[in-house]
Amino acid sequence: MKIDTKLIHGGTFGDPHTGAVSVPIYQVSTYKQKRVGEHAGYEYSRTGNPTRAALEQLMAELENGARGLAFSSGMAAISTVLSLFHQGDHLVVGDDVYGGTFRVLTRVFNRMGLEATFVDTSNLEAIEAAIRPETKAVYMETPSNPLLKVSDITAISGICRQNGLLLIVDNTFLTPYWQNPLELGADIVVHSATKYLGGHSDVVAGIAVTKEESLGEEIHFLQNSIGGVLGPQDSWLLIRGIRTLGLRMKQHEANARRIAEWLADHERVKKVYYPGLATHPGHEIAAKQARGFGGMISFDVGSAELAEQVLERTKLFTLAESLGAVESLISVPARMTHASIPVEKRERLGITDGLIRISVGVEDIEDLLTDLDQALS
Ligand SMILES: *Cc1c(COP(=O)(O)O)cnc(C)c1O
Repeated sequence: MKIDTKLIHGGTFGDPHTGAVSVPIYQVSTYKQKRVGEHAGYEYSRTGNPTRAALEQLMAELENGARGLAFSSGMAAISTVLSLFHQGDHLVVGDDVYGGTFRVLTRVFNRMGLEATFVDTSNLEAIEAAIRPETKAVYMETPSNPLLKVSDITAISGICRQNGLLLIVDNTFLTPYWQNPLELGADIVVHSATKYLGGHSDVVAGIAVTKEESLGEEIHFLQNSIGGVLGPQDSWLLIRGIRTLGLRMKQHEANARRIAEWLADHERVKKVYYPGLATHPGHEIAAKQARGFGGMISFDVGSAELAEQVLERTKLFTLAESLGAVESLISVPARMTHASIPVEKRERLGITDGLIRISVGVEDIEDLLTDLDQALS
């Protein structure tokens, strides 16, 4: 089945009891048991809930994995996956991962003795150099946030296999519509489903999908033990969002390509970061491992003042954190999403005060260009 069909028919389709074409919202915490230990597949909704199960099955199919798991946020998904590791274990992590991922590793999991070394994962030698005897996994995002750096999933999975490491990929930016890390050798995919999967800025959720059933079983044990599960109402909203993922992603991408090209020619723009541009250093790898380049663009206007002006003047780009929804959003990563990364580190990475990140929505492209034009003038 092709992905556009899977989005509609994948997972559990509707309700066999009534013929309803949408999965019911099972707003329930517990389930009647016939005898002690004998039940119809569900006993308590932290352990499993039919609406959440429908979403988990759909996500497993979309990522071509064995097992999908849904959490109360992207950070709950990521934290539960990180709970696979033990005191004294070490991880190699991308150096411009999502700020919340950096924070949970350096301020929470470090307390329990989980160590992380942050490297540029687009540089294979840097990954190899960071591996130690106690290293257990590589954790990465591609394209990364906010500089849209591209890392070669197949090559990194080769390094991981050689060294007996798990490869964990945060696939939030491209979604399974454009990129399937499990097919390229990753063991676990995580998502902030709050972004493109939900797509409407109305739900906070997270997803993990594993390539192998055994690893999925282990993460389910952690999900049930830690308890950060997604509720039935939000599971249903996410399924509804996912049904139109293909339509949305195509429009996000078509709009983003036009805007990236337009920005690249603009005299007040110093630099544009978009993997779809042939001039982007990761363009070839992105084109090889993904079917699309996504809807996120970062561009540097050279100064905090001009960045401020653009943020104040845009009318269709809403000043907000987050990304991936139907409406266009704009932010300054250094002062918003990446504020928890120390200043020296931000500057070394290129996350300057003049760097603007846009999440290109699905509005009419001419309206978006007109808006950016007046904001930059
Ligand atoms: C937003 C985001 C997260 C965190 O997800 P929440 O749903 O906000 O908890 C993780 N990774 C990436 C790439 C994100 O953009």
